[in-house]
Amino acid sequence: MAKKFACKNIGLACNFETSAENEEALLAQVKEHARTSHKMEQIDEATMSKVKSSIQEA
Ligand SMILES: [Zn+2]
Repeated sequence: MAKKFACKNIGLACNFETSAENEEALLAQVKEHARTSHKMEQIDEATMSKVKSSIQEA
């Protein structure tokens, strides 16, 4: 099942949206985006749990 994520769904003022085949691939894209656009070398646990709970079926 394809999954999608948007930064605005976790309260970030950011237009980034992405979708992928599965959650694992999606999280890889989210991590890359967090690193390059939000200067987060690592996504902390609290943010990661927000990310995961905001993931929707694409
Ligand atoms: Zn973003």
